[in-house]
Amino acid sequence: MFCTRVIARILYVNVSRLKVRHKHFCTDAATRVSGSNCGQPSLEHKETHDISNNIQHYDIAIVGGGMVGMALACSLASMPLTKHLNVAIIDSNPALGSRPYFNKDDPPDPRVSTVTPATISFFKDVGAWQYVEQHRHAYFDKMQVWDYTGLGYTRYNAQDINKEVLGCVVENKVLHGSLLSCIENTDFQKTIYPSRLSSMTLHPSPSSLGMDSTSSKPPLSSQRHLAKLELSDGNSLYTKLVVGADGGKSCVRQLAGFKTTGWNYSQNAIICTVEHTIENGCAWQRFLPAGPIALLPMGDNFSNIVWTMNPKESTNRKVMNEDEFVKDVNNALDYGYGPHPTSSLFGSGEMFSWPRAGMPVTMCQSMLF
Ligand SMILES: Cc1cc2nc3c(=O)[nH]c(=O)nc-3n(C[C@H](O)[C@H](O)[C@H](O)COP(=O)(O)OP(=O)(O)OC[C@H]3O[C@@H](n4cnc5c(N)ncnc54)[C@H](O)[C@@H]3O)c2cc1C
Repeated sequence: MFCTRVIARILYVNVSRLKVRHKHFCTDAATRVSGSNCGQPSLEHKETHDISNNIQHYDIAIVGGGMVGMALACSLASMPLTKHLNVAIIDSNPALGSRPYFNKDDPPDPRVSTVTPATISFFKDVGAWQYVEQHRHAYFDKMQVWDYTGLGYTRYNAQDINKEVLGCVVENKVLHGSLLSCIENTDFQKTIYPSRLSSMTLHPSPSSLGMDSTSSKPPLSSQRHLAKLELSDGNSLYTKLVVGADGGKSCVRQLAGFKTTGWNYSQNAIICTVEHTIENGCAWQRFLPAGPIALLPMGDNFSNIVWTMNPKESTNRKVMNEDEFVKDVNNALDYGYGPHPTSSLFGSGEMFSWPRAGMPVTMCQSMLF
């Protein structure tokens, strides 16, 4: 049984070990990408300074070296059909210029991803999962999703489908760093530009390609299919294929003129890390009236919380003290919203300790982004 009495006891027992490590606030436009300095879309080449053969030509230019861009680069590097290609990666994120280094004692990254078995297979195929396994990560084999009334809920157990795990929670910095380590340890021909895309010309004129009809380079007809990219540091390059992996506010998308439709959900999310005494092997998600709260195991007795709510609630919770916040987390996960679901699978109480108010809370940060 997911018994109130047992839960209450376990809450009490585990109270003194709880720490809220980080409390972050995301708006619905949440992303770490800062505003891009994209120019206006340009289909006509400006006849200026770039009549030169020195401008580098690439098969593929990946704009954005985040998790998606680096995953693509690793994939290209690992496949016989593509590993010979000449690839440019454009991103000013300093992480791309340094070797990934994680200190075991560093606080967990409040940004995590729940990766599915299919994603784990992808990481294994490209050779990046071995690096994930060297750092903190948490496989989970149970999942419970329920609503605020307690009437609608479901539970999954990996054993029910003859699997060992349902997925794995990994800090974004570990995923990204593992992809970087993977690409660093190949002889893939890649050039990293520590810069940002500022303009893109899809059909550069022949003269801008630095050649004429007597050039030994490929015929003009094929050169015309190149795109010219100009970077914020003044560099330019040509490429046969441009990949926009530059996040939610993609500069490539804007420069290519792709139309988008969007609307505001009027929801913010609080993200934080909690520490507890007993390893958590279950992914929990509860749907509350203003949005879901998810609690995901991270390894090393940490769990990550992503709590979606309306902006008024997030504004209030941003300024509340840590005890009050922890109490609210308890309420959101366990109290005050109808009957508790019953389960012999999840109710042992030994598996997990809810955060609890009135106890020491450390290393709490807050941020609105
Ligand atoms: C709270 C939260 C929880 C999430 N949980 C999950 C999850 O569990 N599982 C999951 O799969 N997804 C999850 N997501 C979504 C996931 O985080 C994103 O889909 C993912 O980070 C997108 O990666 P990306 O590489 O495309 O973009 P980003 O991580 O945004 O990287 C974009 C990169 O492009 C660079 N860039 C931007 N502009 C330019 C430019 N002009 N020139 C050059 N470079 C540029 C940036 O510096 C950055 O490095 C979550 C998102 C949020 C907000």
